[in-house]
Amino acid sequence: METRKLYYEDTHIRTFSATVLGCEETPDGWEIILDATAFYPEGGGQACDLGILGGRNVLDVQERENAVVHLCDGPLTVGQTVEGAIDWERRFDLMQQHSGEHMVSGIIHALYGYQNMGFHIGSELVTVDVAGPVPGEDLQRIEDLTNAAIWENRAVKAWYPAPEELPSIPYRFKKALEGPVRIVEFPGTDICACCGTHVKFTGEVGLVKILSCVKFRNGVRLEMVSGKRAFDHLRRAYEQNRQVSQAFSAKIMETGEAARKMNEALNGEKFRVTGLQWQLFDHVAASYRGKGNVLHFAQGLAPADIRELADRIAKTCGGIAAVFCASAETYQLCMVSHGGDVKALGAAMNQALRGRGGGKPGFFQGSVSANREEIQGFFAGCGWEIL
Ligand SMILES: [Zn+2]
Repeated sequence: METRKLYYEDTHIRTFSATVLGCEETPDGWEIILDATAFYPEGGGQACDLGILGGRNVLDVQERENAVVHLCDGPLTVGQTVEGAIDWERRFDLMQQHSGEHMVSGIIHALYGYQNMGFHIGSELVTVDVAGPVPGEDLQRIEDLTNAAIWENRAVKAWYPAPEELPSIPYRFKKALEGPVRIVEFPGTDICACCGTHVKFTGEVGLVKILSCVKFRNGVRLEMVSGKRAFDHLRRAYEQNRQVSQAFSAKIMETGEAARKMNEALNGEKFRVTGLQWQLFDHVAASYRGKGNVLHFAQGLAPADIRELADRIAKTCGGIAAVFCASAETYQLCMVSHGGDVKALGAAMNQALRGRGGGKPGFFQGSVSANREEIQGFFAGCGWEIL
C-alpha cells in the first residue's frame, strides 16, 4: 500500500478527503492507511501531526515503507471515503519552529562554516547544537540577519534533485538520508537536506529570538523560539518586567538599573544592620561578664547570628554560653566554650530535649524540639544558675 503525501504537495492543507485502504486492530488502537493524507508522520526531528480522521482521533502517525500509518482510537471501513482534519495550530507551530531553526542554522553555517549537530523542538523551546563556538557578541547579528531574511518573505522551495545534480548543490547535511534526498531551500539563507514540513514563505516564521547560548561539547547549544512562541515569550517577559517596573517605580526599560541600585542599597543596609546587631551583642555579652555558664534566649536571629552572639557571650562570661532562639516548633541553638568542651553536654541535651546537631569540642550547633521551660529545666538539672 502506498500513500500520496499531500503534506509535501502543499504544507498548508488542513483538511482533505481520502479512501481507506487498510484498517488493522492493534493493542494500541487501529492502524489506518489511506490512499492520500495530509497528516505528517514523525520524522526528521519533527513530531507527527495529530487531528481527526473519519470522526476518530489520530493518536500517532508513522511512515512504514511507502505507507503513512495513522494510529486511531476507532476503526474505519476499508473502501470508505473519509474526511481528515489536522490540528493546524500544532502543525503551524512546528513549521514555524522548524523553519526558524533552518534559517538560524543556515546563517551560522554561512558565517562560521559550522554544521548543525542536532536540534530538538521541545514543548517550550527549540534547542540547536552547533559544532563550533559562537561568540556571545555575535548573537544579535545572527538574530538581525535571520529576522531580516524572514521579513524579505521569500518563497521556500523543496524538491528532489536527480542524484547526479546533488554534488553541485551546496546543501547542509543533517544526517545521511536513505533513499532520494529532499532538498529544502530558504533562498539566501539555507539549503539543507530535510524531510520535514516548512512554511511556504519565510514571512510566516514571523520572528526569531535566541534566548541563550551555552558551551556544549565542542560547540554551543542555542535555545531559541520562533513565530507565535516568540510573541508569547515576549508577552510573558514584558508582563514580568511590567511588574518589576511597578515594584521599583522605574520606567519599564530602566528596570535593570533600578534593580542594581536596589541591590546596592540593600547590601549597604545589611552592612549597617550587622554593625548595629554586633554592638547589641556586645552589650548583651557585657551584661553576662563573669557569670560563668549562661543560658540566653534570643529572638529572630539567623543561625550565623546565634553563633556570633554565643561566641561573644562566651568571651565575657568565663563559662559556657548557650544561646537559644525560637523558630517554628523548635529552638535553634548554639553553645560555645572558649577553652572548654561542650560535646558531652550537647549529647546529653540531644537525648533529653529531642535534639539534633553536633560540632567540635568548644562548639555545638543544632536544634531541639522542646519548650522554654523544658530547656531551662535541663540546664538547671546540670547545675546551671538560670538567670
Ligand atoms: Zn526542515
